[in-house]
Amino acid sequence: MENFMELRIPAVSENEPFARDAVAAFCVRLNPSLDEISDVKTAVSEAVTNCIVHAYTGGEGEIRIACEAEGDTVHIRIADFGKGIEDVVRAVEPFYTTLAEEERSGMGFTIMQTFMTSFRLESVPGAGTTVYMSKRFGQAQGKAEYASGVQSKRGGSDAR
Ligand code: ATP
Ligand code: MG
Repeated sequence: MENFMELRIPAVSENEPFARDAVAAFCVRLNPSLDEISDVKTAVSEAVTNCIVHAYTGGEGEIRIACEAEGDTVHIRIADFGKGIEDVVRAVEPFYTTLAEEERSGMGFTIMQTFMTSFRLESVPGAGTTVYMSKRFGQAQGKAEYASGVQSKRGGSDAR
């Protein structure tokens, strides 16, 4: 069986670094690069912060985090049972925020989408929100190989 874990934690800001580091620790067995693990930590941090500041607006609530390994990929699910999102299409737009007065930039979902291999958002107003994200590790090495291939082609054209 592939590895998995589930965490249930209160939605308090002190738990944000814990959640981020717990997911990172889970990922270690998948041999991520430093950049890749940093991407995952940032994405988890954004999702957990959203649960704390938006779902429960600073009040009490629970966050559930699940991780599952599948080959070289980690699947992460982060769920809350808070107020939910009326318009998920709008919510994921860059710079869209309902907390502009608190100097939020509206970039959390954009960061999750950019830093992870896949991203999906589900929300039911009044019932809660779930973010599904996956990260495939080993992609950075692929890029390096690709880059060295490009370099050797350039070398070829120099020789002409
Ligand atoms: P930033 O993440 O840059 O600090 P932000 O949190 O407002 O700002 P996003 O993370 O992209 O930006 O979220 C966009 C909007 O979606 C939020 O302003 C909020 O209205 C809504 N939202 C996000 N996550 C949740 C959640 N878990 N529950 C309820 N609403 C949410
Ligand atoms: Mg956010």
